[in-house]
Amino acid sequence: MTDGERRQALEAIAAEVQSCTDCRLHQGRMRAVPGEGDPETEVVFVGEGPGFNEDRLGRPFVGRAGDLLVKLLATIGWRREEVFITNVVKCRPPDNRDPQPDEIAACSKYLRRQLEVLDPAVVVTLGRHSMARFMPGARISGAHGTVRPVDPATGAGSALVFAMYHPAAALRTPEIERQSYVDIGGVPAALLDSRRRRDAASLSATAGSTAAGEPFASPDAEATAADLVAGEPLLNAELAAIEVAAIEPAIPVMSTPAPLPPAPGDEVAPQLTLF
Ligand code: URA
Ligand code: SF4
Repeated sequence: MTDGERRQALEAIAAEVQSCTDCRLHQGRMRAVPGEGDPETEVVFVGEGPGFNEDRLGRPFVGRAGDLLVKLLATIGWRREEVFITNVVKCRPPDNRDPQPDEIAACSKYLRRQLEVLDPAVVVTLGRHSMARFMPGARISGAHGTVRPVDPATGAGSALVFAMYHPAAALRTPEIERQSYVDIGGVPAALLDSRRRRDAASLSATAGSTAAGEPFASPDAEATAADLVAGEPLLNAELAAIEVAAIEPAIPVMSTPAPLPPAPGDEVAPQLTLF
């Protein structure tokens, strides 16, 4: 899918969301909040649902929780425009109550389609309701700051999911805020790990189709696939993509180890450039 096609597909989904009446949440909304960000991003943040300010502006995470999210992103050198930010339900639950299971079910098609279009390497869940979609059965107290592969039924078939507390919870509880700064520091490592897995998966798919296709017609192609599996060309391309300009610890407190220790050869806490 080209950049333009991806943008168009996301806009088409947003237009459907804006006129959607598939659950009772449409009744109280001022504006639906489809989500926003870079269509070419590798990282999608998924919150719970719009609040008061989001409902007024039709944009996700524009209130105090959004301010905190922006600060958390800044500690790893990312800006909100470089990722994609959306929610489990696209319309504001009245009085900021939790979204109900039937509302989440009615709205899930939009998030799934957004993820199919974006094909992210990492989905960062913000809070329990978002985590429940991508890490079924997990408890946030144990799962925050950890990663898992994602069920392709979510739409994010080749992503890792990284769980975080909801920024609104962090605003209420200083210990959760402190923990959120620690947790976000693990996201770049999750992205590196996911890139490696995706490269390996697409290489083995290429090698597989070469082998299954014309085993004798193109010995060069086989040699190329073998070289790639050995890692050199892609690894170099990937390393070139990593900016290690800022190696200072991005945050003052790093008391717990990052969930995914960098592989040998990686710089500690690299600043990753998002594409
Ligand atoms: N909280 C959320 O979960 N999502 C938003 O968009 C804003 C606040
Ligand atoms: Fe439609 Fe989702 Fe809004 Fe419900 S919350 S009306 S399903 S867009």
